[in-house]
Amino acid sequence: MTHFVFTPAPVVQIPVVGTEAQFPVRRIYCVARNYEEHAREMGHTDREPPFFFMKPADAVVVCLPGQTTPLPYPSLTGNLHHEVELVVAIGTGGKNIPGDQALQHIFGYAVGLDMTRRDLQNDMKKQGRPWCIAKGFDHSAPIGLITPTAAVPGIHAAEIDLSVNGTPRQHGQTDQLIWRVAETIAQLSTAWELQPGDLIYTGTPAGVGAVTQGDVLHGTITGLSPICCQVV
Ligand code: MN
Repeated sequence: MTHFVFTPAPVVQIPVVGTEAQFPVRRIYCVARNYEEHAREMGHTDREPPFFFMKPADAVVVCLPGQTTPLPYPSLTGNLHHEVELVVAIGTGGKNIPGDQALQHIFGYAVGLDMTRRDLQNDMKKQGRPWCIAKGFDHSAPIGLITPTAAVPGIHAAEIDLSVNGTPRQHGQTDQLIWRVAETIAQLSTAWELQPGDLIYTGTPAGVGAVTQGDVLHGTITGLSPICCQVV
């Protein structure tokens, strides 16, 4: 039996709709500028290919249905932004996955929030530095329950919405993704060998904005378990 120098961290896990089983999280990939209107609101006029960044797995905050999950306001920022996103949960790994086989690697889908320290992200962009401090902080990846693929056949043309305190902020359709889900998996798997348990936050539609303590965020995608959290 292995003796660890201290107790290893527990496996990060997300409940799956319709079962007692949990989805064990391995890595979190995120796609940047994957909706044209959001790329424009961020000041980019030329259509460029989307790109990737990562968050640590333990940035996950599970948001159970019917509950308001507390979301701690992070340190070092005065401009915490919400980005509601379709999250793809990988069930079967692979590298150089062809686009026409990519959807077979998906276990299921969830609603996620890519929380962002926008002020720090802007600083890092200006200085040509990595985004980690702006994107990969503790509690930066709220996510709802995972719905298995077979239960959401309409996911590739679904409505995606986020409201703050009941006021609509973000709206889009998943068929507006620049890299569709299959293409994202194909692209990602050229750079990393995807593994079961990997999550992919696929990018946010237009309407990102700041939240402050007390604000209640409500994120939905047609057919998926909604998420509700309160900044505390
Ligand atoms: Mn994002």
